Amino acid sequence: MQIAVTAKEVREILRSVRREGKTIGVVPTMGALHDGHFSLVDTLRGRCDFLVMWAFVNPTQFNDINDYRNYPRTPEKDAAGAKAHEVDLLFVPDVSEIYPAGTEAYYERKSVRVTAGDRSLGFEGEHRPGHFDGVVHVCTVMFNIIRPDFAVFGEKDYQQVQVIKQLNEDLHLGIELVVAPIVRDADGLAMSSRNVLLNERSGPLSISKALMQIKAEVAAGQSDVSVLEQEARLMLENAGLRPDYVSIVDAETLKPVKSIENEAQLLVAAFTDNNVRLIDNMRLRRGG
Ligand code: AMP
Repeated sequence: MQIAVTAKEVREILRSVRREGKTIGVVPTMGALHDGHFSLVDTLRGRCDFLVMWAFVNPTQFNDINDYRNYPRTPEKDAAGAKAHEVDLLFVPDVSEIYPAGTEAYYERKSVRVTAGDRSLGFEGEHRPGHFDGVVHVCTVMFNIIRPDFAVFGEKDYQQVQVIKQLNEDLHLGIELVVAPIVRDADGLAMSSRNVLLNERSGPLSISKALMQIKAEVAAGQSDVSVLEQEARLMLENAGLRPDYVSIVDAETLKPVKSIENEAQLLVAAFTDNNVRLIDNMRLRRGG
């Protein structure tokens, strides 16, 4: 596995890869890698000849400076894990490499910025102002450096998948987007880099328990969204979590629905007692 820290190095390596007629796939991450990330690598491996992963904690997608500072960083472990999973090229740039004019210029709108479309409204977009603008900006910059044929994103960040699809369509990026299912620990907790910040598991576990419970109720015929949302919210609160949102929405448009006809998506974000913000989601289907 090669490791690059500059865009120039990445371009040079990928120029010769492309010359050999190989296709390139990319796995975008913020590092602190776990098996959820490696499942993305595995999903993409069969589809392309050369696998690039970026591990970059992108400051502009954090709306809270303390969240950015406290975000886990494990660069040596990440490099070992990426190598073990046969990533071909790991890109670990500094902030100054990705923001050549500086992040101040980004925030002050002095440098060129990419902004997210309307699928970024509500949910994460509402509760983390500027988050998806930072996401689509960094993805566009990285995609311009790497120029991948394929990119894989995890369904764990359900709204992010919709936002990136819209970016790909609207800016004609021409990337084949692959979506990978959520990887969970054996007890049901969705894997997340933030899980290392948890001081206990019973509160966080109520999220996946609530998702499973609501999924079962919908499968059994309950279709009233306000009843289902209220029930899920109570399950989280009773376990000591502070729900940020608990919403059942159209799985494509993310627009609210009142009643579940066939399918819908349940989106949850909640804070733990030590203020770690967790997200999770589940597809709901009438009749199973
Ligand atoms: P992050 O490093 O948290 O920005 O995540 C990088 C990518 O990994 C995103 O596409 C996430 O959706 C995906 N990802 C994170 N956790 C999981 C998980 N538990 N299962 C599947 N994909 C995940």
